[in-house]
Amino acid sequence: MIGDRDTGIVIKPNLVVPSKPEQGATTHTAIITALIEYLQENGFRNITVAEGSWVGSETEDAFRLNGYYRIRDRYGVKLVDTKKDRFRKLTYDGLTMEVSETMLSAGFLINLPVLKGHCQTLMTCCLKNMKGCLSDRSKRDFHRWGLMHPIAALNMLVKPSLHIIDSISGDLDFEEGGNPVETDRMLMGTDPVLLDTYGASLMGFSPEDIEYIPMAAEYGRGSMDIENAVITELNKPEAGNIRATGAVSRLAAHTDPDMACSACYASLIHALKRLDENGETGKLRGRKVACGQGWRGKKMEIGTGACCSGSEHSVKGCPPSAADILAMLEKL
Ligand code: SF4
Repeated sequence: MIGDRDTGIVIKPNLVVPSKPEQGATTHTAIITALIEYLQENGFRNITVAEGSWVGSETEDAFRLNGYYRIRDRYGVKLVDTKKDRFRKLTYDGLTMEVSETMLSAGFLINLPVLKGHCQTLMTCCLKNMKGCLSDRSKRDFHRWGLMHPIAALNMLVKPSLHIIDSISGDLDFEEGGNPVETDRMLMGTDPVLLDTYGASLMGFSPEDIEYIPMAAEYGRGSMDIENAVITELNKPEAGNIRATGAVSRLAAHTDPDMACSACYASLIHALKRLDENGETGKLRGRKVACGQGWRGKKMEIGTGACCSGSEHSVKGCPPSAADILAMLEKL
């Protein structure tokens, strides 16, 4: 529940760099406009969009490129570059950081992260997206402190009430984008640890691989128990046109898609990426992994998801998670 109609609602997207969402780094602008329209239709008028890009990029360039100034003017919302905000010094577990006053004073904070890869932490989603609430000085401190522990600590100081994850076309490896993988998926929830645990499984990681997830769970920020989580699917994936990017095409050589849904194919690509990192793609020895609705009712050697249940080596799920596909591939 948001509270009364005057509640100050702050929306925190991911604008880590000035780049278009199609590159796999930034929150799709349509999600923000749809959210603003929904809130305004329900009488909420005190809305702010706030974000700070990473050190070395200007948030205003990202605002300009993605049409945020037009959004501000069209909907009458406030727009805050947190790099230029006032900051409050806060300490958790021995780490002192400068946190944006706009974020801290929100009556209801909505986090809009992108589920994507990260070259240092492997994955970024709800928990890591909060780094945009910091001053540039504190962002630099986080890297000196090794990122993992401070990310967990930050999430004990800034606690969004709602997380809406953009997993439409997140990058495979880098938070700044460039290798997007179409998944056409969005997730929503209130527990960032649970959502990040689920996001990790979708990318072929265990939550322990992303060190700040168990640290945040240990602090009591949320639960890693996705086995017992209540996950409600609002719709089923649909078969789409698979577009392989440069980085993805090498992995795509191990696949045989036929009317594959984006989420299903992305899980397979993420699993192949992990297999490749472990130096185990040789297991496939020229064999391809089937994926997609065109394989329904057919026999094949290796396949993923409910549509490929006729395969000798198969994975359940519709779509299956990358973690489950990886486990199957590792056993070949
Ligand atoms: S199992 Fe089939 S229907 Fe389900 S997501 Fe995969 S391709 Fe789509």
